[in-house]
Amino acid sequence: MKKQKTCRYCQQPAQLLRKGDQGYPYWRDYGPTWTCVPCGAWVGCHEGTTNALGGLANAELRDWKIKAHAAFDPLWQAKIRRDGCTKSKARRAGYKWLSEKLGIDLKKTHIGYMSVEECKQVVEICASVGQRDKTPETNT
Ligand SMILES: [Zn+2]
Repeated sequence: MKKQKTCRYCQQPAQLLRKGDQGYPYWRDYGPTWTCVPCGAWVGCHEGTTNALGGLANAELRDWKIKAHAAFDPLWQAKIRRDGCTKSKARRAGYKWLSEKLGIDLKKTHIGYMSVEECKQVVEICASVGQRDKTPETNT
């Protein structure tokens, strides 16, 4: 099943492109991508599928997503070490905590779907926790 994606910047339907197609964003093979040819925003797919990993992102947003992950991931990774829980449980607890801090619905709390503004908030929130005690409090 092919899921249609829409560009969040210009509301154009994105095209599923593979390496070699005109408009494919990179010379390296990143697998199939949903690409908005007019503005160059794109998103990769889950391995072996054509399901997008998230919303289409331009260069600025991709950069902020990397920063948000760099700020957020160590927090739930610390929980694995501290509580000895599984990766998925720690990550779920981390996202639950993040959704409460951001005040957005848990279902929408995924860095893959966030805007630049939300990514900036994630970086700030995680940095403030990092100062204090390195690990977020979570109700599990
Ligand atoms: Zn676009």
